Amino acid sequence: MPRLEEGTARATARNPAPAQAEERMAEFHAQLKERGLKSTGQRDDIARVFFALHRHISAEELYAEVKKINPHVGYATIYRTLRLLKECDLVYERHFDEGQARYEVAGEHHHDHFICERCGRIIEFENEAIERLQQTVARELGVTLSHHKMELYGLCPDCRARA
Ligand SMILES: [Zn+2]
Ligand SMILES: [Zn+2]
Repeated sequence: MPRLEEGTARATARNPAPAQAEERMAEFHAQLKERGLKSTGQRDDIARVFFALHRHISAEELYAEVKKINPHVGYATIYRTLRLLKECDLVYERHFDEGQARYEVAGEHHHDHFICERCGRIIEFENEAIERLQQTVARELGVTLSHHKMELYGLCPDCRARA
């Protein structure tokens, strides 16, 4: 079953259990400490909003969300914090169709993405046959795989219905 997610037009976030978001915050704090960095109120606000929203979000969208709870946070701080989260392996940066960077919480089980070319909606999916086939290709090529990115593009069910 595909797990439906947000688009740029509509926001139907699948929120994780609060405990999960708190776990990630704890991990973030541990990593900051390792790097000799302090956790700041702004950094924490940004990370907490990001972990709670839990979807493929652009820096601008995250900025708008964080503004709702802390109007003092600047865009540069959002950007820097996302970069820091990425360095801590807590965030994946995605570039769908050469669009703006989108960020999603790392450490989830592997999945691939369908992106609607009309409304920007992102649908996550996983398909065992596709995963297995990649191993077959790797064997044939005599290579080992470290990771892959599978992105499918087209019209989502809603946009198909409207077309
Ligand atoms: Zn669509
Ligand atoms: Zn995803």
